Amino acid sequence: MFNNPVFLSKLKAYASLISLPIISIIVVGASSSISFAKPPVKQPRLILQVTVDQLRGDMPFRYYDRLPKGGFKYLIEKGTVYMDAHHAHANTETIVGHATLATGAHPAVHGMVGNLWLDRGKGRMVYNIEDDQYSLLSKDAGIDKSTEIDPTQKAAGTDGRSPSAIMVSTFSDELASYTAGESKIFGVSVKDRGAVSMAGHAGKAFWFSKANGNFVTSSYYYEKYPEWVNAWNAKGMTSSYSGKTWSLLNDPSTYLFRNADDQEWETDVYGFGRTFPHEFKEKDSKLFTTFLTLSPAGDELVLDFAKTLMEKEALGQDNTTDYLSVSFSSTDYVGHVFGPSSLESEDNLIRLDRTLADLFAFVDKTVGLKNTIIVLSADHGSPEAPGYLQKKGLAAGYVQPNTWDKTKAIQRLKDRFGIAEELIEMYEHPYLYLNQKVLKEKKLDPAEVENAIAEELVNFEGVAMAVSSTALASSNLPETDLYRKILNNFNPTRSGDIYLVFEPHWFINDFDGLIVTCTHGSPWTYDTFVPIMFAGSKIPAKHIYRRVNTVDVAPTLSRYIGASPPSGSAGSVLTEIFDK
Ligand SMILES: [Zn+2]
Repeated sequence: MFNNPVFLSKLKAYASLISLPIISIIVVGASSSISFAKPPVKQPRLILQVTVDQLRGDMPFRYYDRLPKGGFKYLIEKGTVYMDAHHAHANTETIVGHATLATGAHPAVHGMVGNLWLDRGKGRMVYNIEDDQYSLLSKDAGIDKSTEIDPTQKAAGTDGRSPSAIMVSTFSDELASYTAGESKIFGVSVKDRGAVSMAGHAGKAFWFSKANGNFVTSSYYYEKYPEWVNAWNAKGMTSSYSGKTWSLLNDPSTYLFRNADDQEWETDVYGFGRTFPHEFKEKDSKLFTTFLTLSPAGDELVLDFAKTLMEKEALGQDNTTDYLSVSFSSTDYVGHVFGPSSLESEDNLIRLDRTLADLFAFVDKTVGLKNTIIVLSADHGSPEAPGYLQKKGLAAGYVQPNTWDKTKAIQRLKDRFGIAEELIEMYEHPYLYLNQKVLKEKKLDPAEVENAIAEELVNFEGVAMAVSSTALASSNLPETDLYRKILNNFNPTRSGDIYLVFEPHWFINDFDGLIVTCTHGSPWTYDTFVPIMFAGSKIPAKHIYRRVNTVDVAPTLSRYIGASPPSGSAGSVLTEIFDK
């Protein structure tokens, strides 16, 4: 229309009636051909989403001067780095963070409100991705409750796993939908939940079985293992660590924590020790595979499996965008056992950096970094060990509900309702669950009971807040960041009745007798603060200091390829990655 001569002559005639400078601009524009903006970039061949379990936002920068090139330095020097990125939900646990990164939704919407929740229909606690409709493809790969150190895995009612409990689409689902199922979509991790969540409903997931030392999957994804998976498992990489140790990678004098290998708050898990070298023991010893996961070896296994997957499934080898999620779990286990400020954590990070460098070099060789979008983030951050903070003058400690003197609280509840302990069904972080059956039988008002118990809870040592679900459902909550995070975590079908928040630097560290040094899961900044780094393709090198949220990652990936944002997505597109 702009080049139509009749239109142009009319425009010129009209131009004489109003101010010339503006019109001359229009005419110049009209006489040259109008070009519309093209889609921002060509489709990447591969989207590589890396999640480092428990990587607090400061950790890649803390040892920056000690890192060679190619790993974090590639992302930080060549990519767009968000320096103030946070999770916006209160329960900073592994499945919650992974599902948030995958879906761009808050847990209130994606439904993964905790690693565990009370399924009132089933009448028991459920593990986030357990699914009795499916089974593990390997018979010997189920959870061994006698050696399992992950308390959430022990609670699972079945070994079957699937993404069915994730209530909305993931980015990977949207990619599958956008490309009519032609994209190859995979998730890999030591942790089942780290793999399943990111692969979404449409992708395929593999994770590490501590029971048999293999990468395994469930019948949700496959009827039988692809041949290359059998071949990887048969080559014996896991058993190659037999009799070996985790020792420092570099000269001890080069480490920040060189004089702090043995800190009294570190945990000696089943004889793995508090000082280097940490022995994996022989491959037939009961805790061999557990010890591998408590060290950088877990990440090395994931890296090798992921590279084989990329090669055998030919990821990124044609013009359809493929997706690979790699979730590295070692940083989480090492943080739990030794704390983020420890020689173990420092060596783990330096080795993680080498693992990343290896992965990026492999992607460059096989796909080309210019054809790849890399995004790295974390499912949550990490607290410091209370002992470490106490030495720096901060009040910090472990919350021990067993030691609380509950006598007066119980008496007050009895005076008011006739019963006390019977009102509570259970506490499972972060929720206290009331016994709804008893409440009904006694004809008690749930809101009144919730509020009465919440009022009692805040009197105990270490408790900062107790927020009832009735209060959350009302519209008159104070508009604070903390309440917003608890609300973002609130799903009426899965959340418990009272959300318990401990004071900053205070947390429970006793899990059925397994004592750990650090536990994340709070709404405080050290647990919400994570890196978000994009690199590859035409992503510009820049550091962004505005506050962003992890819900922004998935819709940004969708925007990049032009697909729909995931169905529950609450985030905004991180526009800086499109800058020239
Ligand atoms: Zn985690």
